[in-house]
Amino acid sequence: MRNEKNANREKYEMKCEVIRDLLPSYLEGLTSSVSNELIENHLNDCGDCRRYASEMGAAVDAPDPQAADRRDHDIKPFLKLRKKIWRNILLTVLACALVFGGSMLYFVHSWTPDFNDVTITCEKNGDVAELTFSAKNKNTILASYAGVYSGNAGADAADDLCLELAASRKNPFTTPIRKNAYYSYTFIDEDTVYNNNTSKPMDITDESYFLVMFGDKTVKINIKDLSKEKVTIMK
Ligand SMILES: [Zn+2]
Repeated sequence: MRNEKNANREKYEMKCEVIRDLLPSYLEGLTSSVSNELIENHLNDCGDCRRYASEMGAAVDAPDPQAADRRDHDIKPFLKLRKKIWRNILLTVLACALVFGGSMLYFVHSWTPDFNDVTITCEKNGDVAELTFSAKNKNTILASYAGVYSGNAGADAADDLCLELAASRKNPFTTPIRKNAYYSYTFIDEDTVYNNNTSKPMDITDESYFLVMFGDKTVKINIKDLSKEKVTIMK
């Protein structure tokens, strides 16, 4: 009897030692649910260990063995759900960004059109000869800007100015302010024009031209013929 009691006590004390070894991990929530149950059962029965645990700074005087389980049951699915919601929000935002970014790139992308893709007409209103550059493809809009030709344009090039064309796709959701590109000269007399981009009078001869840069080539357009509403591409 006595030996059995001593043996039990020894076992019991062994257990206390094991429990106390596990306590720091338990208090930090690092132990498994099986260990938690063993520890909490032991703390319920063993006043020494309970005191030891409260000295370690934890409120385990009234341990609730179901608390950890309840927390797992209540919080884990909630966390999982929150994770799922966040993932869905993230995916939606990402998809929107891709669609929006893609369409922006599609419509913002511009290129220099080829000569054969553009129709050039000239119309004279009073002294002003206005050239219209329109894309043959009705879904393409054209814009122009005056540049300075860096190549050797020759003596008859008007001020070395050239017209650069930029094509872009017509956005179906907006109406472009202008679909075509325009360029004009004001004729002071037969031999003098105002280039509306330089705003200074310029003497011209039959050979005077201005340059228009296309994607495939640069063409010379005779200036004098514009007064007769003629678009002459020079050699
Ligand atoms: Zn104990």
